[in-house]
Amino acid sequence: MDAETVPSRSNHLRRALAACRGAWSRATHLALDIALPTLCVACREPVDGEGVCAACWAKLSFIEPPYCPRLGIPFVYDPGPDMLSMEAIASPPAYQRARAAVRYDEVARTLVHALKYQDRTDLAPAMGRWMARAGRELLAGADMLIPVPLHWRRAWHRRYNQSGALARVIERQSGVKLRGDILQRARATEQQVGLSRPQRASNVQGAFKVSSERQSEIAGRRLVLIDDVLTSGATTDACARALLRAKAAQVDVLVFARVVDSPKAPI
Ligand SMILES: [Zn+2]
Repeated sequence: MDAETVPSRSNHLRRALAACRGAWSRATHLALDIALPTLCVACREPVDGEGVCAACWAKLSFIEPPYCPRLGIPFVYDPGPDMLSMEAIASPPAYQRARAAVRYDEVARTLVHALKYQDRTDLAPAMGRWMARAGRELLAGADMLIPVPLHWRRAWHRRYNQSGALARVIERQSGVKLRGDILQRARATEQQVGLSRPQRASNVQGAFKVSSERQSEIAGRRLVLIDDVLTSGATTDACARALLRAKAAQVDVLVFARVVDSPKAPI
């Protein structure tokens, strides 16, 4: 063995060892990926498949008829067709009809927050499917899905728009085309959390617009606005107003969860 070959052999050995180590580390990562079960987003118990375990799924409160045909708020009893809730008559929204998959309670809030703030885009397929089911009637006659837009600064921080992620799933489920380029934020708004109802309304007033070159595309069309949560309805109402100003024929609203204070008696 001469002096030349020793370093070269040891280099070779070192490279081979490094390659082995790399392969081993990739294999362990792969094994960990396979071995680590998905955890339920609400209770952190291992779960097969999507997002929520059976126990938490059972805790989700799906909104079923009877409900106000206008606002989608559940009724305590079925008053027969076309009976509106007191809210729908007292302060009718700019949009025509709203539907939600679930009530905004504890498990629903956990799902919404995980999708919105923790990059859990894997939850969107299940949430979007539940929405498509709740909004069947709206989607049947719709021309376009319009996600509620984020201001670009917030979109930059969050990297994606949760309403857009839900709308993509609903597009696949319903065949209604998603258009994320129609409605824009004209200005950044404060977070609606913690604001009173009138403050929420003035916070989003004039916050949305349809650019003039897009107006002809929605004129006379029936649109379904997609959002994650409906609280006071101020954001969806401001969006609907902007779309109707641009001559949309009708705007309906489909959300994952809506706040329901208590079941309402119809009038
Ligand atoms: Zn769970």
